[in-house]
Amino acid sequence: MSAKTTDTMPAGTTSGTPQVLLAHHLKQLKLPTVLREYDKVARECARDGVDHPRYLLRLVELELIDRERRVVERRIKQARFPATKSLDTFDFTAIPSLNKMLVLELARCEFILRRENVIALGNSGTGKTHVALALGLAACQKGFPVAFTTAAALVHQLMEARDERRLIRLQRELQAVKLLIVDELGYVPLSPTGAELLFEVFSQRYERGSTIVTSNLPFEDWTSVFGSERLTGALLDRLTHHVHILTMNGDSYRLKQSTGRRVATASNRAEQNQATA
Ligand code: ADP
Ligand code: MG
Repeated sequence: MSAKTTDTMPAGTTSGTPQVLLAHHLKQLKLPTVLREYDKVARECARDGVDHPRYLLRLVELELIDRERRVVERRIKQARFPATKSLDTFDFTAIPSLNKMLVLELARCEFILRRENVIALGNSGTGKTHVALALGLAACQKGFPVAFTTAAALVHQLMEARDERRLIRLQRELQAVKLLIVDELGYVPLSPTGAELLFEVFSQRYERGSTIVTSNLPFEDWTSVFGSERLTGALLDRLTHHVHILTMNGDSYRLKQSTGRRVATASNRAEQNQATA
């Protein structure tokens, strides 16, 4: 039988070998793990004297586990994280100003169900993006649709969509994600149109979905980003109504690491020099 006929094989057709039909039907039913594993698991079950219901159960469980993994992978891909970071690799002792218990609680993602926001504030290199990425990853693993972007990229995207008359579609897409992460608010001042478009995003998410914002600027300086005091006031009003603030002021982790490395290399060199002297 040719591959072509198996593709169009109607259910209930009795011709062909059972394996070919089974492969066709399992593909049709979107059960790739059952298809991949049924033969191997059948041999294991025969060897161990496992009955048919348990054989089927094993197969179906494998499919479920795989399916969950595929969903999480898809969510992570759709979130467009610039890097994969988790709390496992985050050193809380490096940033004493950060409330560790709060971060661990947020990683449980109940704030997303409550449509609350998170704002991480602090100077550069203190792990704001790391924590935002880790919370985003946790949300994907819990099954929430997530989108990661920077303030500058989001504004650019919004302006482009507006020029191409597809702003409403983009706004709807942004509303559909349960967790929107807007990184690096404050690095670049926004144009009046950019500020207004960003305001609209936050405004549309208000009490509908969670947003995480990271910024190097304290709230009192946000007017310098948005240009208008009135707009900044209205934005902060919505964003901070249900909010968890992460205070992340401290030494730059990057700087500390590189100076640490430099010190280490210098002392290595000194030791080597001593050894060769
Ligand atoms: P910020 O966004 O605050 O400027 P980042 O999150 O980009 O800082 O951190 C800079 C780099 O240092 C990243 O590679 C990040 O993973 C790492 N980093 C920062 N803080 C920590 C920390 N406490 N533990 C582990 N890695 C950290
Ligand atoms: Mg950052």
